[in-house]
Amino acid sequence: MKSLQIQIKCPNCNKYCELESETLGHTLNMNDFYQNGFTIGNPEIEVDGDLEEITDIDDVETTLKSVRIECQECGNYIELEDWT
Ligand SMILES: [Zn+2]
Repeated sequence: MKSLQIQIKCPNCNKYCELESETLGHTLNMNDFYQNGFTIGNPEIEVDGDLEEITDIDDVETTLKSVRIECQECGNYIELEDWT
């Protein structure tokens, strides 16, 4: 079975890419986006708790807040939010 495909289109400059896993697995490398004209930004991660009081790393709770996909051609972007 082939993997899902991801299509990204910038309506501003019409940059377009279509990605699918090239391996037998179902994984995509973030670099594949970059090579096709779109940049995946560093994920914004929220850290919960008072870090000065935490002594055990397991007590740190993190939540993925958003990931940005940006068009390298014109800088247009979309934020993927609500990862809960
Ligand atoms: Zn664009």
